[in-house]
Amino acid sequence: MRIDVFTLFPEWFDWMERSRPLRNAHAAGSLELCTFDYRTTTPLRGGRVDDTPYGGGPGMVIRVDVVAAALEGAYGATSRAPRVVVLSPRGRPFDDAMARELAGEDQLAILCGRYEGFDERVHAHLASDTVSIGPYVLSGGEIAAMAIVDALGRRLPGALGNDASLEQESFSPALGGGTEHPHYTRPPEFRGWGVPEVLLSGHHGEVERWRRDRVGSGPAVALQPGREEGQGDGDPDRDPDRGALGGDADRRADARPDHDPESDAG
Ligand code: SAM
Repeated sequence: MRIDVFTLFPEWFDWMERSRPLRNAHAAGSLELCTFDYRTTTPLRGGRVDDTPYGGGPGMVIRVDVVAAALEGAYGATSRAPRVVVLSPRGRPFDDAMARELAGEDQLAILCGRYEGFDERVHAHLASDTVSIGPYVLSGGEIAAMAIVDALGRRLPGALGNDASLEQESFSPALGGGTEHPHYTRPPEFRGWGVPEVLLSGHHGEVERWRRDRVGSGPAVALQPGREEGQGDGDPDRDPDRGALGGDADRRADARPDHDPESDAG
């Protein structure tokens, strides 16, 4: 897959292909990341790319002729442009399903905005999709583009040590869109914080059941109003009183919204 990022700061992306897992995808020939600077192809003098908004108001707007020139510089005047994603806080929310969908493209262009964003004609006539990475406003599209490149790149062949990692991770169809179970590793006890006994038991069936029971039990669910971890499901494994310390440390930990009380059991 080739991903073309259009930006005023192409050098910000230099690190991406040097770091794993995108480096692996690049080495395997499944990812090529290219950057294009609007200033290189702008038809305006002095490398200018923006202008004041019609109707007045604060801020500057990236011009449609500047973006058209950048796309034509990359893909030719006949506009054999690939799918073009323009980044905006008001776009379709980027999620795992969209990452899977976009990772299936052979080539993708991502347009990073700055200032007040793009002239609306960029959205209407030059882009295929308007995408947001969340309901907040960033200073520019570069960090949003990095999030998308990373989410797509790690899905490409050769990116991860084991491609099976993708099949059972958070938001995957295999987990019904839920979040993955918690993970533990050595040491089995640290500062009195234990590991659920079942994970040390060697009983693969029980480990699988424990993991299945915890799909979707990540912070997003723990923070849902009206649902408290360990209450009402009759599972003794979830009893907050089973914390290994039983003292202030347990109470402090239980007060944390992301804390899974049963995790200290054992
Ligand atoms: N005036 C715009 C508004 O109120 O919605 C905000 C523009 S923002 C300061 C500049 C650029 O950052 C946008 O054109 C977009 O490319 C990018 N950006 C900011 N927040 C984003 C988000 N949540 N998702 C995707 N891109 C974002």
